[in-house]
Order: sequence, then structure tokens, then C-alpha cells
Amino acid sequence: ARGRFKKDETTPVVGDFVEIEVIDEEKKEAVIEKISERKTYIKRPKVANVSQIILVLSIKDPKPDLLMLDKQLAYAEFLGIEPIIAINKIDLSDEYKEIEETYTKIGYKVYAVSAKEPKTVEKLKESLKNNISVLAGNSGVGKSTTINAIFGNNITQEGVISEKNKRGKNTTTDVKLYEIDENSYIVDTPGFSTFEITEIESKDLDKYFREFAEQIENCKYVGCTHIKETECGIKYAIEEGKIDKQRYERFCKIYNELKEREENRW
Ligand code: GDP
Ligand code: ZN
Repeated sequence: ARGRFKKDETTPVVGDFVEIEVIDEEKKEAVIEKISERKTYIKRPKVANVSQIILVLSIKDPKPDLLMLDKQLAYAEFLGIEPIIAINKIDLSDEYKEIEETYTKIGYKVYAVSAKEPKTVEKLKESLKNNISVLAGNSGVGKSTTINAIFGNNITQEGVISEKNKRGKNTTTDVKLYEIDENSYIVDTPGFSTFEITEIESKDLDKYFREFAEQIENCKYVGCTHIKETECGIKYAIEEGKIDKQRYERFCKIYNELKEREENRW
């Protein structure tokens, strides 16, 4: 980057679209002159313009962590990045159908895959087109295997990408961008496996539970927390089968975690 960009927020990060001035054509040297406005921005690890977060879980080994999934979904909504769910290792168990149904009903795209069989990732691969996507999920769910299935024989000269990231002395702040085609990229970072959602305030959490939105207007009190209140639109919706009870219970858990952290802050 030329000189120093004034604020930290305008220091170029992975994913930025920039204007460059070529210094040496042959050596492929250039300086960054200008950073384009970011559509999205993730603070930790720093990466700009991610348009899609693929939340990977496996149906077995390890078993699905739906609390983590709901946290990540809320965080993606908070960031304004489209979340997609990939349930991996369906060759090991067919108990994924219930999860698929729960989240499809909310309006999320869910792909059931077996990354070891590359043909099962075709649809997921299509969804990457014209996007900058990042994969998130617990260790062992199959993120690297999925990435490798997506790249197939077109794997870059860097080899098996996430494997390399895992073995090296890389830290969670390491971010790399891999090109699938001219407009499609995958962000590879170990730092996205278990991120914290402390940026969300407990009182705002309901905004990031997509299916809650249209039920909140039935809450009796403005500022209803949907926890202790009985005259609550969310609770009515659970009775009517419009909101999944277990997802609501995970909402309460996350809410309480955030609340507790807020209180300890002082
Ligand atoms: P990561 O930590 O999320 O990157 O997970 P990996 O891609 O390293 O996969 C963890 C383990 O699960 C490896 O032993 C993979 O071979 C295995 N694995 C990945 N995908 C599948 C799958 O679709 N089916 C089965 N049975 N095993 C898988
Ligand atoms: Zn309510």
C-alpha cells in the first residue's frame, strides 16, 4: 500500500477491491492507490467483501453442534452476509433430514453432502459462483475435504489448501483467498472455525433470528425479550408450530450468554 492509509479500517485487507498503479510490469510490482468501499467487513479475522458464509457441520464424527450453528447464523445476519448451511458426511448417517427441514423452513439454503464423494458437492459448488465465500465450522466437520472437492483437479499449486494452513505455524489471523474462477473466490482461514459473537447485544439478538421477525409484532410489550414474558409473539408462534421450539431454546441460551457477558463487562 502506498504510504499509510489513515485509519486502521482503511488498511487494505484480504478481499478488498483496489486500484493499483503498476510500478514494474515484468516483476509484477504495483502499489495500492485506493480501496473501494466494502460491501461487508469481518473484523476477526480481517476480511472484506465476503458475500457468503458456508456453515459446515457433520452429521456424525463430530455430531452436529446446533448451538454453534445458531450463533453463526445470527452472526452472519448481523454482518449482512448470506449464510448457507452444508451438512457433511451424510454417508455416515441419514439423520440429517430433520436438521435440513428445520433450517429450510426458516428460509436458509441447506446442502446435504458427502465431501468424500465430489459429485455430491456440485450444487454447493454452483452456489459459490460470483461470490466470495468463507467456510466456517468446528474442526473435523470436513471443511478442507469440501474445499478440495470443490477445486477437484483444478487445485492450485499450493496443494491441498487447508491442510497446509493447519500444519503450518499459521494463526487464526491468517487469511487466504483462492480463485475458483474470475468472479468466485473461497476464503481459507483457520480463524473462522470458532468465532465469538460478542459484537451482538443481547437485546438485538432477536433481529438475527430470521423467522422471529414477523412474530415480534405480536409481542405485547415493546422491548419484549421473549424470555420471561408470557404475552409474547414468539411463544405464540411456538404453540402454533411456526417456530421450532428447540431453536427457541437455543435462542434463550445464546441470549443469556450475551447478557451475562454484558453484565460482567462492568
Ligand atoms: P476440517 O477440520 O473441517 O477441515 O475437516 P477435514 O476436512 O480435515 O475432515 C476431517 C475428517 O473427516 C477427515 O478424516 C476426513 O477424511 C473426514 N471426512 C470429510 N468429509 C467426509 C465425508 O463426507 N464422509 C466421511 N465419512 N468422512 C469425511
Ligand atoms: Zn416476545
